[in-house]
Amino acid sequence: MPRIGTVYLVGAGPGSVDLLTLRAYRLLRSADVVVHDRLVTDEVLALAREDAPRLDVGKAPGRPCLPQEAINALLVRLAREGRMVVRLKGGDPFIFGRGGEEAATLAEARVPFEVVPGVTAALACAAQARIPLTLRSVARAVTLAAGHTADGEIDLDFDALARRGTTLAIYMGAATLPRLRAGLLAHGMPHDTPAALIERGGTPRQRVLHGTLHSVTEDAPDWVTEGPVLAVIGEVVAVARESAGAGVEAMKAEY
Ligand code: SAH
Repeated sequence: MPRIGTVYLVGAGPGSVDLLTLRAYRLLRSADVVVHDRLVTDEVLALAREDAPRLDVGKAPGRPCLPQEAINALLVRLAREGRMVVRLKGGDPFIFGRGGEEAATLAEARVPFEVVPGVTAALACAAQARIPLTLRSVARAVTLAAGHTADGEIDLDFDALARRGTTLAIYMGAATLPRLRAGLLAHGMPHDTPAALIERGGTPRQRVLHGTLHSVTEDAPDWVTEGPVLAVIGEVVAVARESAGAGVEAMKAEY
C-alpha cells in the first residue's frame, strides 16, 4: 500500500491568475493531479505542473457532470493511491462549491485534507464593479444567497433578505430573477432598489449592468451571454454608480 496522499480543497478565485492566493499557486505547482470544475479558467489550470493530469469533473451546458458521489469517490481513490491531489474550485471552496460535502467524505474516509480559501465571486464582482458591500449607515450586513437549489427550487427566507440595510449577493440567480424579484417585492423591498448584474467578474472579460431590481430582472435574458452572473441588490449599488460618475443615462451602460 502506498502512503496515503493529501487532498487540498483549493479556491481558484474568480479566474484571473493574480487573484489566486500564493498558497493556491504553490499547491498547484506541486500537485500530482488536479481535479477541477468548469468555472476554473484555462489561465489558472496552466499554472499546474506540466505533467500533472487535469481532470475536469464540472458540468457544462449540454454535458452532464460527474455526480457528486463519483467526485467524492475519485478524491478518496486518488489519495489512497498516494497522490497529492488539488481539488480546484472556482471562487471559494466553501461558498456554494460543495466543498463541505467533499470535506465530510474525506474526513469519513480518514483521508488527510486541507482547505485553502479563494476570493469568492461576490467579493471579486463587488471590487471590480466598485460596489462597497457594506457601507456605514447604508448597509451593515451582507447576505450571500443561492438563486436556486440543486433541484431547481428557491428556498430562501425572503423576509430576512428584503430587510433594509442588507446587501444581497445572489449566486446562480440569473435564470430565477423573476421569482426572486417576486419574493423580495412581496416582503416589502421597493422595486426601484438599486441592483447590478456582473458577468465574469474578476476576469478581463467582465461586464456590468446597472439598474434597479425591476430593470435588471427585465433586461437579464437579453443581456446575459455565457455567464457566470452574480446579482448584487441594495442601496450600496447606487453609491457605486455615483462614485463611478455615471448619470441616469449610464445607468444601464456596460463598462
Ligand atoms: N464557489 C464559487 C461559487 C460557485 S456557484 C465562488 O465562491 O465564487 C456558481 C455561481 O457563482 C455562478 O452561477 C455565479 O452566480 C457565481 N460566479 C462564480 N464566478 C463568477 C464570476 N467570475 N462572475 C460572476 N459570477 C460568478
